[in-house]
Amino acid sequence: MTFQEEIKRRRTFAIISHPDAGKTTLTEKLLLFGGAIHVAGAVKSNKIKKTATSDWMEIEKQRGISVATSVMGFEYCDYKVNILDTPGHQDFAEDTFRTLTAVDSVIIVIDAAKGVEAQTRKLMEVCRMRKTPVIVFVNKMDREGKDPFDLLDEVEAELSIKVRPLSWPINIGQRFKGVYNLFEHHLDLYTPSKQTITESIAFDDINNPELENYIGEADAAKLREDMELIEGVYPEFTPEPYLAGDIAPVFFGSALNNFGVKELLDCFVKIAPSPRPVYAIERVVNPEEEGFSGFIFKIHANMDPNHRSCIAFVKICSGKFERNVNYKHVRHNKLLRFSSPTAFMAQKKEVVDEAFPGDIVGLPDTGNFKIGDSITSGENIHFKGLPSFSPEMFKYIENADPMKAKQLNKGVDQLMDEGVAQVFTHQNSGRKIIGTVGQLQFEVIQYRLLHEYGAQCRWEPISLYKACWIESDDPAELENFKKRKFQYMAVDKEGRDVFLADSGYILQMAQQDFQKIRFHFSSEF
Ligand code: GDP
Repeated sequence: MTFQEEIKRRRTFAIISHPDAGKTTLTEKLLLFGGAIHVAGAVKSNKIKKTATSDWMEIEKQRGISVATSVMGFEYCDYKVNILDTPGHQDFAEDTFRTLTAVDSVIIVIDAAKGVEAQTRKLMEVCRMRKTPVIVFVNKMDREGKDPFDLLDEVEAELSIKVRPLSWPINIGQRFKGVYNLFEHHLDLYTPSKQTITESIAFDDINNPELENYIGEADAAKLREDMELIEGVYPEFTPEPYLAGDIAPVFFGSALNNFGVKELLDCFVKIAPSPRPVYAIERVVNPEEEGFSGFIFKIHANMDPNHRSCIAFVKICSGKFERNVNYKHVRHNKLLRFSSPTAFMAQKKEVVDEAFPGDIVGLPDTGNFKIGDSITSGENIHFKGLPSFSPEMFKYIENADPMKAKQLNKGVDQLMDEGVAQVFTHQNSGRKIIGTVGQLQFEVIQYRLLHEYGAQCRWEPISLYKACWIESDDPAELENFKKRKFQYMAVDKEGRDVFLADSGYILQMAQQDFQKIRFHFSSEF
């Protein structure tokens, strides 16, 4: 196979959903079709259940699971499919954001009864920012749920994207009979007890009187009526607006019953994009380029506390990656060679000799990498699109064991490089502030500092509203602002200026008084 063909056949994507919509179930069924696993139940949900006791036990368990399921690659009908897993718990949303920078498209799972939920909305915002193509899978059609037209309206309104159904349900819940597939024009029948597609009949013309024989008179009439409405309301499906991120094709099914999943996968491999050009600060990098380049979007560290080791996950953006070849670590400006890079096929990790754009490779590492680092075959390329977002929660971190100050600092540095949370150093006092998306991250940090670094930390409250990265075209004004607001100023890990507003009002006032300063809620603008 040529280099070009290898690129064209790759489909790298993530499945996102609100917890419980069916992401794990769908992932597992996709892997079954890909022959990557052979029994149901093999994919562990990486959900953290919020329990009263020992959350961190769950966290450890979760970290074990999530290294195995971080990337699941499999071959399907000449395509190489790479599914990137995302954490289910909302406190780890930043992890999910970063994973979304490494995919070329996304499948969104929605619960037919619950419709669009909070987490889905938030993740879709990231997809929209990046113009990531999305396909929507409406799950749990075997249960009572919302009217499909209402659901589509809800998706359009809540996720700010146009939709185009490519399958259409015949009833729902107890009376669910299957779907009409508008992409391939066949009727897929569902029998609850059989728990799979019982029959798939080619049906080019929905007006064919044969339809009644399969689904009865009333449902046939309703389906024809729905079809007429669909053709009238929604534009004809073409791949271009989907690839541009303007229209989301929609499928209906039931992941648990393996219904509609193969149809989703068959359509997905045909229409979903192969690796797309990636934006670097210097230029746009095309996958077909000969020179190798990639960036680290995830670091998985210290599964064994006695042995400082981690795996850095690289998304390959261009060129061919080869084992035992020298590549440049751009930030350190030094050459590194990897003797045992791993690829992820379903739940196995195996050493690979080569990998192509779209693939994810795991590099064993001992602390060389941090999130966002680029490696290349020589060129200085810095990839964009791994922004930090303003945290939601802030706490001072204090050393609780004076003998272990060094361990604490090292631990904090490394955990932040790994992207566990963000650290800001207060200009005025020099105190360190940790910012997170949720409470659980503070628990993770405290636990890992103790178990991996032997350091003890203590949290002290600080009441902050937002962290804003600031900039201005007028250097004097920027200096003036920093001087006037010195008690609110901090620097992030990269040394960028951050304004820590303790209330929405303070921020508003600052914006009003300093018109030449721009305030950003993410580190990339
Ligand atoms: P996740 O949190 O999005 O990964 O959701 P899971 O895949 O763990 O599913 C959450 C729950 O919904 C589980 O109990 C599943 O068995 C159930 N579930 C998933 N898909 C379906 C479906 O199509 N129909 C029904 N009735 N239940 C489903």
